This record gives sequence, structure tokens and C-alpha cells, in this order.
Amino acid sequence: MEKVILVRYAEIHLKGLNRPFFERLLVDRIKQALNPIKANVTREQGRIFAYGVPEEEIERCVDRLCRVFGIHSVSVARCVEKDWNAIREAAIEETRPYASGADGLTFKCFARRADKRFPMTSEQICRELGHELLEAYPNLSVDVHHPKLPVTVEIRQNNAFVYTGEVLGAGGMPVGSNGKAMLLISGGIDSPVAGYMIAKRGVMLDAIHFYSYPYTSERARDKVIELTKLVARYAGRINLYLVPFTEIQLTIYDKCPSTETTVLMRRLMMKIAERIAKDTGSLALITGESIGQVASQTIESLCVTDDAVSMPVFRPLIGFDKEEIVEKAEKIGTFETSILPYEDCCTVFVPKHPVTKPKVDKLRESEALVDFEPLIEQAIAATERMDIR
Ligand code: ATP
Ligand code: MG
Repeated sequence: MEKVILVRYAEIHLKGLNRPFFERLLVDRIKQALNPIKANVTREQGRIFAYGVPEEEIERCVDRLCRVFGIHSVSVARCVEKDWNAIREAAIEETRPYASGADGLTFKCFARRADKRFPMTSEQICRELGHELLEAYPNLSVDVHHPKLPVTVEIRQNNAFVYTGEVLGAGGMPVGSNGKAMLLISGGIDSPVAGYMIAKRGVMLDAIHFYSYPYTSERARDKVIELTKLVARYAGRINLYLVPFTEIQLTIYDKCPSTETTVLMRRLMMKIAERIAKDTGSLALITGESIGQVASQTIESLCVTDDAVSMPVFRPLIGFDKEEIVEKAEKIGTFETSILPYEDCCTVFVPKHPVTKPKVDKLRESEALVDFEPLIEQAIAATERMDIR
């Protein structure tokens, strides 16, 4: 009796005429997530099945599929012929591990017939199967309202599938269904979460990180690479651009008003990110900012930062409290890495009294004190690209 992974998809069913495109993309994403395991991944009437996964690999594969955006939930099913005896035996086998333990475990049978030619109705399947299971395992009982164990039979075009539970997936839409955007990633708690949230809507990610040797260490950089890898478990391959930022930072500190250094630095980061984004096909920038979290994230500072670029800036955490962001970071598995104590270039040169209500015109003037263009070009020329997966 072959075990297969049955995948239900999330929002794709809403997509009308584009549906085949989304489904094909999701199949591709599933194959990539299962790689190097060569499963036979096929679409069948609103489901996707992965056949041929070795039994000892199934648990690991389910775990990986739960990070693929576009998947609503996953079940490990027994795949049998559309024959009542085979279905019955599969259900008895599938239930066995639950029947041996504690007394009084409750179950309920569910049936779905995508193939209406099957000679029993869904109701008949449930009723007959209920009897069979009670007979095989007298210590089980039926509870139609709050069953502990749902036992499901799906009758489809070519096969029948029997399973006893489902694992929730990450939801969202398959990565690549909604273009590409550039994540400004810092090594803190917020930006990896921001990237996750935009990737979840089907957006492919590139990432960009600014570092300031020797003020920031090699380990701070490694931490960002590690965080990008963690985001890539969901978002797929990510091009990570590493930009040397020391010259620009030192120039800002040397030549511009000390209260404005952080905001100026943010503007220059945005400008460089936008240029690389334009050259590499990203249509928007993403940051981990949230209103009021720090001086550079007051609503005035955000306006000044936005003013530096013409591309849309996505800030998916804008209305989140820190606590909510931390919870999300823990859930997606980035928190532990984010709190490693290595410095970020933003924290190295923090002004004692940063402006909290910067004005766009004033900041443009301060920025014009220096000709940043050659420094920007130099930084971009020295940028390194890493292929993260
Ligand atoms: P995070 O936890 O993401 O570091 P934060 O609360 O520490 O955020 P800031 O340090 O002010 O906030 O940074 C705000 C946003 O600017 C970050 O979420 C990130 O998108 C971007 N950013 C900050 N520093 C860098 C950097 N060195 N490289 C790239 N992007 C950065
Ligand atoms: Mg930070």
C-alpha cells in the first residue's frame, strides 16, 4: 500500500482563469522543496499529490512542504485502488496506531467522492467504514461532534486515498506568482519577518545588506547570511547583495549634522537598494520598520526615508508591536539567530540626540552638502552577490 503526500492548496482556487498558472508554479515549488528526492508530483482535480517518496523520508518532506507558500495543508495518505475492500483495509491499517493506546479514543469518518461513478455514496462509505472500524477496534468509539481522530476517504479519478489527519501549511501564494522585491536585511529581528510576510504573498525575494568593516565584524555578516538562509527556506532562492558602506557612513559623520546622521544613512541605503533593485528586476523595496519603534521610525522619519526613492517601499510590520514581531520571528524560526549579539552598522554610530521629526527639505539640504554620487557608485561596484538557498 503506497503512501503518498496529498497537498491542498490555499488561495489558488480563487484565481479564476489564471488558476493553471498558479497550479503549475506550485507544483514547481513543491518539487524544489522536495529536492533531492525525486518524487512524482502531479495535479489531480484540485489537489496535488507527491508519489514515490520513500517512506522514511515522508516526515521530513511534510515538514519542508509546510514551508512552501501556496499550501493550505498536507496529509500523508494511503493510496489504494477504488475498491471497497482495499479502502476498508487501508482505513483499518491507518487507524491501527491510534487504536492500541488509550481507551476511548473517538473517531469520525469523512468521505469525499470526486469520482461520482463510485458505487457507494459518501454517506454509505462513512457508515460502512464506521462499522468496520468499531468491529476491528472495540475500544474506539464514534463522536460525530468532536472526534479526536478524523478518518477520511477521498475517491478520485484514478485512486482512492485514506488518511487520518492533516498538517497545516504556511498558506499564502506560490513564490514567483507576484513578481520580485528587494528586502533590506539587517540582522535584527524585524527584517527577516518582513521578508517572510511579503514572500508569503507570492513575491520572489532578493536581499541587500549594508556592512561597515571594520566597525562591524565578519560574524555580523555571517549572521545576516544565516538569516537569509532561514528566510530562503520559505522564499526559495535569494540573491543576497552585500554592500560595503563604511566610506559613506564615515563621510556622513564627518560632513553632515550629527543629529541627522541616522536618517541620512537610511536615505543612502534606500538609494543604493533602489538602484540595485532596478538593475535586477525588483519592483519594490521591503523593510522591517514599524511606526514609532525607534527615532528613525517616527512617521516623519519614514516620510524622509521614502523621499529618497521613487520605488514603492513595503513595510509589512508597520502596525505591529515588537511583541507581535517577536512571536512571528519565533514561529518562523529566525528569532534565535536574530538575537545573537553582533552589531549592525545602524547601531555602531548612533547620534546622542537624533532628530525625531526630520523635515524633508532640511534633510535634502544636508544630503546636498556632500556629492554622494561617486561614493554610491563605488559602493555598488564593490558589492558582492551571493546565491542563498
Ligand atoms: P531590524 O530588526 O530589522 O534590524 P530595527 O528595529 O533594528 O530592525 P533599524 O535598525 O532602524 O530597525 O532598521 C530599520 C530597517 O532598515 C530594518 O528593518 C531593515 O529593513 C533596514 N536596515 C537596517 N540596517 C540595515 C543594514 N545594515 N542593511 C540592510 N538593511 C538595513
Ligand atoms: Mg536593526
